[in-house]
Amino acid sequence: MKELYHKLQGMRFIDPHIHMTSRTTDDYERMALLGVKAIIEPAFWLGQPRTSVGSFRDYFNSLVGWERFRASQFGIKHYCTIGLNAKEANDEALAEQVMEILPRYLQKEGVVGVGEIGFDDQTAQEEKYFRLQLELAKKYQLPVQIHTPHRDKKRGTLRSMEICLEHGLDPGMVIIDHNNEETIEKVLDLGFWVAFTIYPRTKMGNERMVKLVETYGADRIIVDSSADWGVSDPLAVPKTAYMMLEKGIPMAQIEAVTYKNALLAYGQSGQFEEADWLQSQPIDKAELYGGNGVLRGQNPQEELNKNIIE
Ligand SMILES: [Zn+2]
Repeated sequence: MKELYHKLQGMRFIDPHIHMTSRTTDDYERMALLGVKAIIEPAFWLGQPRTSVGSFRDYFNSLVGWERFRASQFGIKHYCTIGLNAKEANDEALAEQVMEILPRYLQKEGVVGVGEIGFDDQTAQEEKYFRLQLELAKKYQLPVQIHTPHRDKKRGTLRSMEICLEHGLDPGMVIIDHNNEETIEKVLDLGFWVAFTIYPRTKMGNERMVKLVETYGADRIIVDSSADWGVSDPLAVPKTAYMMLEKGIPMAQIEAVTYKNALLAYGQSGQFEEADWLQSQPIDKAELYGGNGVLRGQNPQEELNKNIIE
Protein backbone atom coordinates (compact mmCIF):
# COMPACT_ATOMS: atom_id res chain seq x y z
CA MET A 1 0.00 0.00 0.00
CA LYS A 2 2.82 2.42 0.88
CA GLU A 3 4.58 1.90 -2.43
CA LEU A 4 1.34 2.26 -4.36
CA TYR A 5 0.56 5.43 -2.44
CA HIS A 6 3.91 7.05 -3.24
CA LYS A 7 4.07 5.94 -6.83
CA LEU A 8 0.54 7.14 -7.65
CA GLN A 9 0.86 10.54 -5.94
CA GLY A 10 -0.84 13.26 -7.96
CA MET A 11 -2.81 10.86 -10.14
CA ARG A 12 -6.61 10.87 -10.29
CA PHE A 13 -8.86 7.89 -10.91
CA ILE A 14 -12.47 7.11 -11.67
CA ASP A 15 -13.86 3.65 -10.95
CA PRO A 16 -16.94 3.59 -13.19
CA HIS A 17 -18.26 0.26 -11.93
CA ILE A 18 -18.17 -0.55 -8.23
CA HIS A 19 -20.86 -1.73 -5.79
CA MET A 20 -19.97 0.21 -2.67
CA THR A 21 -23.16 -0.80 -0.85
CA SER A 22 -21.34 -4.11 -0.30
CA ARG A 23 -18.03 -2.57 0.80
CA THR A 24 -16.63 -1.15 4.01
CA THR A 25 -15.41 2.27 5.10
CA ASP A 26 -11.82 0.89 5.01
CA ASP A 27 -12.31 0.44 1.29
CA TYR A 28 -13.44 4.04 0.90
CA GLU A 29 -10.42 5.26 2.88
CA ARG A 30 -7.92 3.29 0.83
CA MET A 31 -9.55 4.26 -2.46
CA ALA A 32 -9.45 7.96 -1.55
CA LEU A 33 -5.81 7.70 -0.48
CA LEU A 34 -4.82 6.19 -3.82
CA GLY A 35 -6.54 8.98 -5.76
CA VAL A 36 -9.99 7.61 -6.60
CA LYS A 37 -12.01 10.81 -7.02
CA ALA A 38 -15.29 9.60 -8.44
CA ILE A 39 -17.15 6.32 -8.70
CA ILE A 40 -20.23 5.00 -10.45
CA GLU A 41 -22.33 2.40 -8.66
CA PRO A 42 -24.54 0.44 -11.04
CA ALA A 43 -27.82 -0.95 -9.75
CA PHE A 44 -27.47 -4.71 -9.82
CA TRP A 45 -28.62 -7.83 -8.05
CA LEU A 46 -27.81 -8.41 -4.42
CA GLY A 47 -26.81 -12.07 -4.46
CA GLN A 48 -30.30 -13.39 -3.87
CA PRO A 49 -33.56 -12.50 -5.57
CA ARG A 50 -35.69 -9.67 -4.22
CA THR A 51 -39.30 -10.55 -3.58
CA SER A 52 -41.05 -7.20 -3.95
CA VAL A 53 -40.80 -3.89 -5.74
CA GLY A 54 -40.37 -2.16 -2.39
CA SER A 55 -36.92 -3.75 -2.05
CA PHE A 56 -35.94 -2.24 -5.38
CA ARG A 57 -37.29 1.14 -4.36
CA ASP A 58 -35.32 1.14 -1.11
CA TYR A 59 -32.18 0.01 -2.93
CA PHE A 60 -32.48 2.73 -5.59
CA ASN A 61 -33.12 5.27 -2.83
CA SER A 62 -29.94 4.19 -1.06
CA LEU A 63 -27.94 4.55 -4.30
CA VAL A 64 -29.01 8.17 -4.72
CA GLY A 65 -29.08 8.86 -0.99
CA TRP A 66 -27.22 7.19 1.83
CA GLU A 67 -24.44 5.62 -0.24
CA ARG A 68 -23.75 8.91 -1.97
CA PHE A 69 -23.49 10.57 1.43
CA ARG A 70 -21.26 7.80 2.79
CA ALA A 71 -18.84 8.23 -0.14
CA SER A 72 -18.78 12.00 0.37
CA GLN A 73 -17.61 11.46 3.94
CA PHE A 74 -14.43 9.96 2.52
CA GLY A 75 -13.92 12.60 -0.18
CA ILE A 76 -15.26 10.53 -3.07
CA LYS A 77 -18.01 11.68 -5.46
CA HIS A 78 -20.58 8.94 -5.90
CA TYR A 79 -22.82 8.53 -8.95
CA CYS A 80 -24.99 5.65 -10.03
CA THR A 81 -26.74 4.00 -12.91
CA ILE A 82 -30.28 2.72 -12.44
CA GLY A 83 -31.83 -0.31 -14.08
CA LEU A 84 -33.34 -3.75 -13.77
CA ASN A 85 -30.53 -6.33 -13.83
CA ALA A 86 -30.72 -9.29 -16.19
CA LYS A 87 -31.02 -11.94 -13.51
CA GLU A 88 -34.10 -10.45 -11.89
CA ALA A 89 -35.64 -9.63 -15.27
CA ASN A 90 -36.61 -13.31 -15.31
CA ASP A 91 -39.26 -12.71 -12.63
CA GLU A 92 -41.84 -11.19 -14.93
CA ALA A 93 -44.42 -10.07 -12.38
CA LEU A 94 -41.76 -8.24 -10.39
CA ALA A 95 -39.98 -6.92 -13.49
CA GLU A 96 -43.17 -5.24 -14.64
CA GLN A 97 -43.43 -3.36 -11.36
CA VAL A 98 -39.76 -2.35 -11.42
CA MET A 99 -40.15 -0.97 -14.95
CA GLU A 100 -42.85 1.33 -13.64
CA ILE A 101 -40.62 2.98 -11.06
CA LEU A 102 -37.48 3.30 -13.25
CA PRO A 103 -38.37 6.58 -15.03
CA ARG A 104 -38.64 8.42 -11.73
CA TYR A 105 -35.10 7.37 -10.73
CA LEU A 106 -33.55 7.90 -14.16
CA GLN A 107 -34.39 11.59 -13.88
CA LYS A 108 -32.70 12.08 -10.53
CA GLU A 109 -29.54 14.11 -10.04
CA GLY A 110 -26.31 12.08 -10.21
CA VAL A 111 -27.86 9.25 -12.21
CA VAL A 112 -25.45 8.92 -15.12
CA GLY A 113 -26.96 6.08 -17.10
CA VAL A 114 -29.27 3.12 -17.43
CA GLY A 115 -27.49 0.12 -15.95
CA GLU A 116 -26.31 -2.38 -15.45
CA ILE A 117 -28.56 -4.15 -17.92
CA GLY A 118 -28.13 -6.85 -20.54
CA PHE A 119 -27.96 -10.62 -20.44
CA ASP A 120 -27.29 -13.25 -17.80
CA ASP A 121 -28.68 -16.56 -19.07
CA GLN A 122 -29.71 -14.99 -22.38
CA THR A 123 -33.40 -15.82 -21.94
CA ALA A 124 -36.37 -14.31 -23.76
CA GLN A 125 -37.43 -12.46 -20.60
CA GLU A 126 -34.00 -10.91 -20.26
CA GLU A 127 -34.12 -9.76 -23.85
CA LYS A 128 -37.57 -8.25 -23.38
CA TYR A 129 -36.54 -6.06 -20.44
CA PHE A 130 -33.20 -5.23 -22.00
CA ARG A 131 -35.00 -3.83 -25.03
CA LEU A 132 -37.52 -1.91 -22.93
CA GLN A 133 -34.72 -0.31 -20.94
CA LEU A 134 -32.82 0.68 -24.10
CA GLU A 135 -35.93 2.61 -25.05
CA LEU A 136 -35.85 4.33 -21.65
CA ALA A 137 -32.20 5.29 -22.24
CA LYS A 138 -33.16 6.88 -25.53
CA LYS A 139 -36.10 8.69 -23.98
CA TYR A 140 -34.02 10.18 -21.17
CA GLN A 141 -30.88 10.60 -23.33
CA LEU A 142 -28.70 8.61 -20.96
CA PRO A 143 -25.69 6.39 -21.61
CA VAL A 144 -26.25 2.63 -21.24
CA GLN A 145 -24.04 0.43 -19.10
CA ILE A 146 -24.16 -3.16 -20.30
CA HIS A 147 -23.31 -6.21 -18.23
CA THR A 148 -22.16 -9.02 -20.53
CA PRO A 149 -22.83 -12.60 -19.38
CA HIS A 150 -20.20 -14.72 -17.69
CA ARG A 151 -21.39 -17.84 -19.53
CA ASP A 152 -21.26 -17.83 -23.31
CA LYS A 153 -19.76 -14.34 -23.20
CA LYS A 154 -18.90 -13.86 -26.83
CA ARG A 155 -22.38 -14.66 -28.08
CA GLY A 156 -24.00 -12.57 -25.34
CA THR A 157 -21.76 -9.60 -26.11
CA LEU A 158 -22.48 -9.73 -29.83
CA ARG A 159 -26.21 -10.06 -29.23
CA SER A 160 -26.20 -7.14 -26.82
CA MET A 161 -24.56 -4.90 -29.40
CA GLU A 162 -26.87 -6.06 -32.21
CA ILE A 163 -29.90 -5.27 -30.10
CA CYS A 164 -28.56 -1.79 -29.25
CA LEU A 165 -28.04 -1.07 -32.93
CA GLU A 166 -31.50 -2.42 -33.75
CA HIS A 167 -32.98 0.11 -31.33
CA GLY A 168 -31.06 2.89 -33.02
CA LEU A 169 -28.71 3.60 -30.13
CA ASP A 170 -25.51 5.48 -30.89
CA PRO A 171 -22.65 3.07 -29.95
CA GLY A 172 -20.90 6.11 -28.48
CA MET A 173 -23.64 6.17 -25.81
CA VAL A 174 -23.15 2.52 -24.83
CA ILE A 175 -20.52 1.09 -22.50
CA ILE A 176 -20.05 -2.66 -22.90
CA ASP A 177 -18.59 -4.05 -19.68
CA HIS A 178 -16.77 -7.21 -18.57
CA ASN A 179 -14.94 -7.66 -21.89
CA ASN A 180 -12.00 -9.96 -22.50
CA GLU A 181 -9.49 -10.80 -25.23
CA GLU A 182 -12.22 -12.58 -27.20
CA THR A 183 -14.62 -9.65 -27.38
CA ILE A 184 -12.47 -6.50 -27.53
CA GLU A 185 -11.93 -6.35 -31.27
CA LYS A 186 -15.56 -6.62 -32.26
CA VAL A 187 -16.67 -4.09 -29.64
CA LEU A 188 -14.05 -1.57 -30.77
CA ASP A 189 -14.89 -2.17 -34.44
CA LEU A 190 -18.55 -1.39 -33.86
CA GLY A 191 -17.71 1.87 -32.05
CA PHE A 192 -18.89 1.01 -28.51
CA TRP A 193 -16.96 1.82 -25.34
CA VAL A 194 -15.05 -1.23 -24.10
CA ALA A 195 -14.86 -1.66 -20.33
CA PHE A 196 -12.79 -4.28 -18.54
CA THR A 197 -13.33 -5.56 -15.04
CA ILE A 198 -10.12 -6.31 -13.18
CA TYR A 199 -10.90 -9.20 -10.85
CA PRO A 200 -8.14 -10.27 -8.50
CA ARG A 201 -8.27 -13.98 -9.38
CA THR A 202 -10.22 -14.63 -12.55
CA LYS A 203 -10.90 -13.08 -15.92
CA MET A 204 -8.89 -9.93 -16.44
CA GLY A 205 -5.83 -9.68 -14.23
CA ASN A 206 -3.89 -6.42 -14.35
CA GLU A 207 -1.15 -7.98 -16.49
CA ARG A 208 -3.57 -9.04 -19.17
CA MET A 209 -5.02 -5.53 -19.13
CA VAL A 210 -1.56 -4.05 -19.67
CA LYS A 211 -1.10 -6.30 -22.69
CA LEU A 212 -4.43 -5.20 -24.16
CA VAL A 213 -3.48 -1.53 -23.93
CA GLU A 214 -0.10 -2.32 -25.49
CA THR A 215 -1.91 -4.02 -28.36
CA TYR A 216 -4.99 -1.85 -28.90
CA GLY A 217 -4.01 1.53 -27.41
CA ALA A 218 -6.27 3.46 -25.07
CA ASP A 219 -9.10 4.82 -27.23
CA ARG A 220 -12.53 3.92 -25.85
CA ILE A 221 -11.02 1.50 -23.33
CA ILE A 222 -12.12 1.77 -19.69
CA VAL A 223 -10.86 -0.08 -16.60
CA ASP A 224 -13.09 -0.79 -13.60
CA SER A 225 -13.17 -3.02 -10.53
CA SER A 226 -16.80 -4.20 -10.40
CA ALA A 227 -16.02 -4.79 -6.73
CA ASP A 228 -19.07 -6.12 -4.88
CA TRP A 229 -20.01 -8.71 -2.24
CA GLY A 230 -17.87 -11.35 -3.96
CA VAL A 231 -14.11 -11.86 -4.22
CA SER A 232 -13.09 -8.58 -5.83
CA ASP A 233 -10.73 -5.64 -5.36
CA PRO A 234 -11.93 -2.05 -4.82
CA LEU A 235 -8.38 -0.86 -5.56
CA ALA A 236 -8.24 -2.53 -8.97
CA VAL A 237 -8.20 0.74 -10.94
CA PRO A 238 -5.22 2.38 -9.15
CA LYS A 239 -3.42 -0.97 -9.03
CA THR A 240 -3.79 -1.37 -12.79
CA ALA A 241 -2.43 2.16 -13.27
CA TYR A 242 0.52 1.21 -11.08
CA MET A 243 1.26 -1.87 -13.13
CA MET A 244 0.98 0.12 -16.35
CA LEU A 245 3.48 2.65 -15.01
CA GLU A 246 5.84 -0.20 -14.12
CA LYS A 247 5.54 -1.65 -17.62
CA GLY A 248 6.25 1.69 -19.29
CA ILE A 249 2.79 2.44 -20.74
CA PRO A 250 2.69 6.18 -21.61
CA MET A 251 1.05 8.36 -18.95
CA ALA A 252 -1.53 9.73 -21.41
CA GLN A 253 -2.78 6.19 -22.10
CA ILE A 254 -2.92 5.32 -18.41
CA GLU A 255 -4.93 8.46 -17.73
CA ALA A 256 -7.28 7.65 -20.59
CA VAL A 257 -8.19 4.14 -19.41
CA THR A 258 -8.32 4.89 -15.67
CA TYR A 259 -9.93 8.35 -15.73
CA LYS A 260 -10.62 10.31 -18.89
CA ASN A 261 -12.54 7.77 -20.98
CA ALA A 262 -15.02 7.11 -18.18
CA LEU A 263 -15.48 10.86 -17.85
CA LEU A 264 -16.15 11.20 -21.58
CA ALA A 265 -18.51 8.23 -21.76
CA TYR A 266 -20.66 9.00 -18.71
CA GLY A 267 -20.22 12.77 -19.05
CA GLN A 268 -22.70 12.47 -21.92
CA SER A 269 -25.40 12.17 -19.26
CA GLY A 270 -24.86 15.83 -18.35
CA GLN A 271 -24.63 14.59 -14.74
CA PHE A 272 -20.94 13.70 -14.49
CA GLU A 273 -18.49 16.61 -14.53
CA GLU A 274 -14.91 16.90 -13.37
CA ALA A 275 -15.70 20.19 -11.67
CA ASP A 276 -17.92 18.22 -9.24
CA TRP A 277 -14.90 16.68 -7.55
CA LEU A 278 -12.13 19.16 -8.39
CA GLN A 279 -13.93 21.86 -6.42
CA SER A 280 -15.02 19.65 -3.56
CA GLN A 281 -15.64 21.02 -0.10
CA PRO A 282 -13.61 20.00 2.97
CA ILE A 283 -15.00 16.88 4.59
CA ASP A 284 -16.86 17.15 7.86
CA LYS A 285 -17.18 13.62 9.16
CA ALA A 286 -19.58 14.77 11.85
CA GLU A 287 -22.15 15.58 9.17
CA LEU A 288 -25.40 13.68 9.20
CA TYR A 289 -27.70 12.33 6.51
CA GLY A 290 -31.26 11.77 7.61
CA GLY A 291 -29.99 11.97 11.19
CA ASN A 292 -27.34 9.29 10.65
CA GLY A 293 -23.56 9.69 10.25
CA VAL A 294 -20.51 7.50 9.65
CA LEU A 295 -18.72 8.15 12.94
CA ARG A 296 -20.93 5.97 15.14
CA GLY A 297 -20.19 8.20 18.14
CA GLN A 298 -16.40 8.30 17.58
CA ASN A 299 -14.28 11.40 17.13
CA PRO A 300 -13.19 12.32 13.63
CA GLN A 301 -9.75 10.81 13.14
CA GLU A 302 -7.96 12.09 10.10
CA GLU A 303 -4.88 10.42 11.59
CA LEU A 304 -6.41 7.14 10.54
CA ASN A 305 -5.17 7.66 6.99
CA LYS A 306 -1.58 7.59 8.12
CA ASN A 307 -2.03 4.17 9.66
CA ILE A 308 -3.36 2.80 6.42
CA ILE A 309 -0.37 3.74 4.30
CA GLU A 310 2.23 2.50 6.78
ZN1 LIG B 1 -21.68 -4.92 -11.51
